[in-house]
Amino acid sequence: MDALTVENPATGAVVGTVAVLGPVQLGEMAARARAAQPAWSALGLSGRAAVMRRAQRWIIDNAERVIAAVVSETGKTYEDAQLTDLGYVAQSLGFWAKHAEGYLADERSHYWGNPAVAGKKLLVRYEPLGVVGVVGPWNFPLVNGFGDCIPALMAGNAVILKPSELTPLSSLLMAEMFDACGLPADVFQVATGDGATGAALIALVDCVMFTGSTRTGKLVAAAAAEALIPCHLELGGNDPMIVCADADIEKAATAAAYYSMNNSGQVCISVERVYVEAPVYDEFVNRVAAKVAALRQGPPAGPGSVEIGAITFPEQLQTIDAHVQDAVAKGARALVGGRIAGVAAGGQAGAAVAGGHFYEPTVLVDVDHTMVTMREETFGPVLPIMKVADVEEAVRLANDSDYGLQASVWTRDTPRGEQIARRLAAGAVCVNAAQINYFALNLPMGGWKLSGLGARHGATGIRKYCRTQSLLVSGFGPRRELFMFPYSARVTRLLALIQRLVYRPRARRLR
Ligand code: NAD
Repeated sequence: MDALTVENPATGAVVGTVAVLGPVQLGEMAARARAAQPAWSALGLSGRAAVMRRAQRWIIDNAERVIAAVVSETGKTYEDAQLTDLGYVAQSLGFWAKHAEGYLADERSHYWGNPAVAGKKLLVRYEPLGVVGVVGPWNFPLVNGFGDCIPALMAGNAVILKPSELTPLSSLLMAEMFDACGLPADVFQVATGDGATGAALIALVDCVMFTGSTRTGKLVAAAAAEALIPCHLELGGNDPMIVCADADIEKAATAAAYYSMNNSGQVCISVERVYVEAPVYDEFVNRVAAKVAALRQGPPAGPGSVEIGAITFPEQLQTIDAHVQDAVAKGARALVGGRIAGVAAGGQAGAAVAGGHFYEPTVLVDVDHTMVTMREETFGPVLPIMKVADVEEAVRLANDSDYGLQASVWTRDTPRGEQIARRLAAGAVCVNAAQINYFALNLPMGGWKLSGLGARHGATGIRKYCRTQSLLVSGFGPRRELFMFPYSARVTRLLALIQRLVYRPRARRLR
């Protein structure tokens, strides 16, 4: 069996080694998952919720260990791991333990629109799919990989998680957590490995939940089609921020600096481009540039040590730099940053931060839509800011994108902000906020266009791991339903009457 070495991208230190699982091991895992799933499902929602609540306690009791694991494999700051990876999972374990029952309760209804079903008991019920495969990225290994396992498990499925090859250690820690909290064996398994491991998993499961790049997402969708299983895709974004002339400029500038640079910009819902109305453009730019210039960057050394950590995937440095250099070549100016950290002009990458991979926090101005960074996901600490004549131009440019993950609007006139938000082509839009909607676990969160298919969170976020069964229950009525063989004269007259008194008036109303 091949092995993968896990490195800390902030220091270059080796922090772990994991196996690369192939089709044989995955097949065995899937068989064990299938054997374990019925008993887990039979435990019922309250039994499953009890395990999740124990896990919630465990993760808080072991917070420092969890943060250390995430920091060591991603190179992100202590706070990025604490606020998001740890915070989200702790919240999510409690949320699904509490709300799964409501989302998955039988839905009873009646329907009077057709005499054949009028008065019958009609029911929709939710059954687990069986075995769910979750494939995750490296930027938030716990949020976007493990986090998706929680509702899948609460719905009564067994889950096999394939974490990113760059960040498998924190997922293995989650398996340890579930073990300690009494989750039955084989209900949750971690399949370490690379892209081929992820691809092989799809053929073995009943549903795939994928988070990652749009490029890989298309491959996953094709493989899911081949296996004829549902697939849910949470993909890349290029999120716009619109700053109106009446916005609180200090608040908007602080937010722009934070929501573009947190997690070193490696956030699917990162602010990736800003459109600012002309009257406040200069003030906004000056404030953002000052805030970004003051950020401390380097290998994280515990709480409060740095604001900007490493770039987790070393190759990503080249993508980020290519986007920045493309913009500069086309006329953009870097007011802050603009290089791989530690690179003297024409020098070697990474010289100042031995062994680590860092990109300077960067603010670009004089940008336009001919530049790659305005159209593609840069996924780094880079913030391009563009001056626009008015909100109409901002909306047009914001929507001029192949992506549609998230957007934000900043204005003191919140009703107007909401109207602008409704015109933006994105799965989630915030007014005077960004990113925090991700913590509103009752709201569906999913991308439009190339940003994905389906959603996580809310009712959709758990029902997608179920198959529905419609039940129609007819009581003991007449010996037989009216409209059955033989077609007696009585039936024929009745049908004619229904046609005249029910169908025809309805059709007339529709004209
Ligand atoms: P990636 O697509 O390179 O890899 C994601 C996962 O897919 C990894 O585990 C990888 O091993 C696996 N994989 C690779 N090839 C595969 C295949 N053929 N079949 C199945 N699995 C395969 O993405 P990444 O670079 O790890 O993550 C960064 C991307 O994720 C960015 O585009 C970011 O926007 C996106 N992302 C989206 C969200 C969201 O919620 N929309 C959240 C986080 C990250």
